[in-house]
Amino acid sequence: MNMPVPGHIDPVPVPREVTPREDGRIDLLGLPRKQIAALFEQAGLDARQAKLRGKQVWHWIYHRGVSDFEAMTDIAKTMRPWLTERFVIARPEVVEAQHSTDGTRKWLLRTADNHDFEMVFIPDADRGTLCVSSQVGCTLNCRFCHTGTMRLVRNLTPGEIVGQVMLARDALGEWPKGRMDGLDVEESEGDYTSDGRLLTNIVMMGMGEPLYNFDNVRDALKIVMDGDGLALSKRRITLSTSGVVPMMEKCGDEIGVNLAVSLHAVTKEIRDEIVPINKKYGIEELLQACADYPGASNARRITFEYVMLKDKNDSDDDARELVRLIKKFKLPAKVNLIPFNPWPGAVYECSTPERIRAFSNIVFEAGISAPVRTPRGRDIDAACGQLKTAAEKKSRAELDRIAAEKQAALED
Ligand code: SAH
Ligand code: SF4
Repeated sequence: MNMPVPGHIDPVPVPREVTPREDGRIDLLGLPRKQIAALFEQAGLDARQAKLRGKQVWHWIYHRGVSDFEAMTDIAKTMRPWLTERFVIARPEVVEAQHSTDGTRKWLLRTADNHDFEMVFIPDADRGTLCVSSQVGCTLNCRFCHTGTMRLVRNLTPGEIVGQVMLARDALGEWPKGRMDGLDVEESEGDYTSDGRLLTNIVMMGMGEPLYNFDNVRDALKIVMDGDGLALSKRRITLSTSGVVPMMEKCGDEIGVNLAVSLHAVTKEIRDEIVPINKKYGIEELLQACADYPGASNARRITFEYVMLKDKNDSDDDARELVRLIKKFKLPAKVNLIPFNPWPGAVYECSTPERIRAFSNIVFEAGISAPVRTPRGRDIDAACGQLKTAAEKKSRAELDRIAAEKQAALED
């Protein structure tokens, strides 16, 4: 395990050790099923018991949202304190919960070792999308992104990533209410499935670059997609990357979710400026990786995110170049035009609605879907990807210093 060097920012995925829980108990959330059984066995159960208890506990965690062993009614009363002494089923702590007038909800969450990160829920008529964070901070520094002004504190663990989904289901009241007396008794769906499921989609578009925390994101999403876990289809999950080219194929192979790519610019000059990872992996290389993305097809298109920045990337020529590139690489693509959500200290402005409309029309006319994303939760500052901790306000000099540090690390 590498010790993080103070002040050194590393743009490559260096998993940082999580501070162990003070009470010495092990958090079961986010662990693979097999590992839960293995831990029970290590703690003294015989193999058969460990397997059975593992299965029961797993079911309570992911089908019922239960986090208290005492509530696990099919586990012997004497067994429950034994579990409680050794294990926990944790949730991230909620520091603050905000509710927008348009239904958007935002949570400021805290890890057990006291790092804050955010999560956003965006309800629509036909779906409910949870925007999940993968890291506290980010090693990259896209110039329009508030998270980019923060140093990377650490990667979130699989438990902290799945924990966000669990917490959202807690908050939305989505856990089944019915009784479950024994796993062997077949329950009919209607007995315990909640109606009107609110959380239908997940986007890895919160804080952090998910492909720089690949293993943890993969392990978390495996549980989210597991038919016996949270059972959300991979078609309802989208991972957004700023363009970590070497990890993209692995992402398609090992996770298999939909891909979104934060393109944001079509020339080297502009993309180098606003998405600095472009200096490492350029546009052509990125688009080739998109063309090769396992599982992409006309039925499962790659989303290109394009934040609209006034007089920066929003001209008719930019729109035409975007079309040319998509056609050149024969990409099954849709474009998501995102009005820039300003934050204090940001050096950009959002394009005018007319400009965004004109840009969108050019792309549409070329036969590529290019909807403009409606800003949501603006009253609580909740746009996905602009997740900010209220706490810190940095000076321009400090922001420049962080940008320079990150840039230097990227060039190593
Ligand atoms: N690191 C990943 C995922 C998190 S960012 C990535 O960059 O793709 C999720 C999305 O929100 C990205 O497309 C990002 O460019 C966008 N975003 C960040 N800050 C924004 C802002 N201030 N206004 C609008 N979109 C923003
Ligand atoms: Fe990191 Fe994504 Fe923000 Fe860029 S846009 S700084 S990659 S979170």
